[in-house]
Amino acid sequence: MKNYNIKIIGSGIIGVCSAYFLQKQGAQVTLIDQNEPGSGASYGNAGSFSDYSVLGLNTPGIFLNIPYYLLSSNSPLSIKLNYIFKLMPWMMKFLSHCTNDKMLHTAKNMKIILEQSISSYEEIFSDVDVSDLYEKKGVLYLWGKNNIKSYEQGIEIRNQLGVKQKILTKDEIKALEPNINPIYEKGVLYESAMCAKNPKKILQKIFDKFLELGGTFVNDEISEIKDQSILGKKSHYEYDKLIISAGAFSKKMTDQLGEKIPLETERGYHVHFKNCEHLVSRGVCFADSGLYLTPMEQGLRAAGTVELGGLNNPPSQKRIDYVIHQAKLLINNLPEPYDSWMGFRPTLPDFLPVIGKSKHYENISYAFGHNHLGWTLGAVTGKLMRDLVLDKKNNYDISAFSPLRFS
Ligand SMILES: Cc1cc2nc3c(=O)[nH]c(=O)nc-3n(C[C@H](O)[C@H](O)[C@H](O)COP(=O)(O)OP(=O)(O)OC[C@H]3O[C@@H](n4cnc5c(N)ncnc54)[C@H](O)[C@@H]3O)c2cc1C
Repeated sequence: MKNYNIKIIGSGIIGVCSAYFLQKQGAQVTLIDQNEPGSGASYGNAGSFSDYSVLGLNTPGIFLNIPYYLLSSNSPLSIKLNYIFKLMPWMMKFLSHCTNDKMLHTAKNMKIILEQSISSYEEIFSDVDVSDLYEKKGVLYLWGKNNIKSYEQGIEIRNQLGVKQKILTKDEIKALEPNINPIYEKGVLYESAMCAKNPKKILQKIFDKFLELGGTFVNDEISEIKDQSILGKKSHYEYDKLIISAGAFSKKMTDQLGEKIPLETERGYHVHFKNCEHLVSRGVCFADSGLYLTPMEQGLRAAGTVELGGLNNPPSQKRIDYVIHQAKLLINNLPEPYDSWMGFRPTLPDFLPVIGKSKHYENISYAFGHNHLGWTLGAVTGKLMRDLVLDKKNNYDISAFSPLRFS
């Protein structure tokens, strides 16, 4: 193998896993981040390794709900009023992907990588001991009476695609999670899914292994991308091969390369309820509110909600209140949370990530846009980036993730 000088911008789970697999292969990799590794969206997610989650938000049903999303402060999706005009071009593209055919296109292609997602992590975990930081008890999804149609549609599509799902009766749900109020009508257990007890610590351990293998980390904010070099606030860096994996911030870089990739952010939130992690025994998602409850080292993490509001607006207290309110509907007598956090999910209008080479530069590759599934897809994306950057053949058709689809 040629001894390439590889630079990776962004040390979220996508950048760190890419760095790990490339360094393991013998490449010389430098990860660059303006913050410490794992301080973006990869820090505060719900920790679910959701290998079943083939459907994106681009479903035909979403059209009917848009007025409610715009007007209600109590809906799982909200739009910041001061961002509506900026959002319009992305929103129009997103709505054009909310047809039955395009929804199925998303689902089929997500299946290709989701089914490799857990085995790819297992490869890393055979090298990096994180056995005390995740649990294999599946993830439980619950639907209330207002959401039965979307439940039925989801079940059917996942069945067609061969996703394993165990449909539960209300009594079976109660037996699994007795502390969840029975405001649900339907439930499914995704048995192969796993839950992190502390995503940041898992990421840190993979990062430490990358350093142990001879990788390098540089703390700098990259402001300019050129053909053979990148410019940061502290220095400039030369490269043979470059990966852009800066999550929701990647668009600032691809714009400079003359590619108009319609990356937006779906802002999400979490809060922690101290000493309440024992109240659920696995990740639980209430689909009606888009809320996840995950037992974490920090306490019970309630995470979720989608806010379309861009990268610059401050966090919204109303969204935090929404998360707290929904958590308290699911579990009685929760105390007040002791913290709150907002993160930026990176999302394309077709709810597929961008994994592929730049249109204009053979030596620049992209890995971003993993929306609600970046935590799940970190390891498999890392392997795909290794193969892409080192021009190794593999058996996966990832053409649907190409950045060229927006040209
Ligand atoms: C509330 C919430 C819950 C979620 N739950 C789940 C879940 O349960 N399961 C799941 O699979 N996914 C989940 N996700 C999604 C997942 O967290 C993201 O898709 C994933 O973390 C994205 O990873 P990333 O590496 O692309 O980006 P990030 O983790 O955001 O990393 C990007 C990095 O790039 C760096 N960067 C940006 N600009 C620059 C620059 N100019 N110079 C240098 N560095 C730069 C940032 O500092 C950051 O470290 C959730 C997200 C949220 C918000």
